[in-house]
Amino acid sequence: MISMASVNKHYGSLHVLRDISLEVPAGQVVVMLGPSGSGKSTLCRTINRLEPIDSGTIAVDGRPLPAEGRALATLRSEVGMVFQQFNLFAHKTVIENVMLAPMKVRKLRKAEARRHAEALLDRVGIANQADKYPGQLSGGQQQRVAIARSLAMEPKVMLFDEPTSALDPEMVGEVLDVMVGLAKEGMTMIVVTHEMGFARKAADRIIFMADGVIVEDTDPETFFTAPSSDRAKDFLSKIL
Ligand code: ATP
Ligand code: MG
Repeated sequence: MISMASVNKHYGSLHVLRDISLEVPAGQVVVMLGPSGSGKSTLCRTINRLEPIDSGTIAVDGRPLPAEGRALATLRSEVGMVFQQFNLFAHKTVIENVMLAPMKVRKLRKAEARRHAEALLDRVGIANQADKYPGQLSGGQQQRVAIARSLAMEPKVMLFDEPTSALDPEMVGEVLDVMVGLAKEGMTMIVVTHEMGFARKAADRIIFMADGVIVEDTDPETFFTAPSSDRAKDFLSKIL
């Protein structure tokens, strides 16, 4: 589903992604771990071309990433992304936030977009908040709207970059529950998170990055009980 081969990326003299090669098959849930600055966000952002790469190739569902135009818009609709900050439209209601892109990009009629949005809000557990504005919702509810908004485009892949890091602790669970549900339904997911409970429970695979390199690529059980690199051992000793 996602295929990266020998991907390199620099920010000026900083070599942030060093010859990254990675295959993520459909339906797999990858949790990406690593110290701050190791390149996790950058890697995610290259997959929907929010960040261009310097060399190498990336393909989604067998098609190389387009550089611009309508093909790029299509790619972005196929690769959903949820960030730490929810980035909802403050002056639109919850349901309008979810309806907007499907009407604009997928050309759904309003009634159809509304029906679809209602079903998605129900799925993330906030059907009763549909007519509120984002500012009237808790952080956890807003993040669930952001997830529903991404899902409204019927993505083939979902990327999550620290989706719970900005939330108060008591709201982390409700967002992770939605993500666990998605994983169980077979969504292909790449999740950058510090939530080790989620990693153990939902991940099929752990990718541990350090200094722009994939240092470990293994199943959660192996990663958490018998990491092979000193970098991963050091990382785990600090967080567990
Ligand atoms: P964190 O866990 O803190 O989110 P990360 O693993 O997501 O870290 P990235 O955000 O991918 O790391 O950053 C990798 C490196 O690239 C860091 O050294 C960062 O300072 C640098 N970097 C990121 N974005 C830019 C940018 N737009 N311009 C210049 N340098 C950048
Ligand atoms: Mg990051």
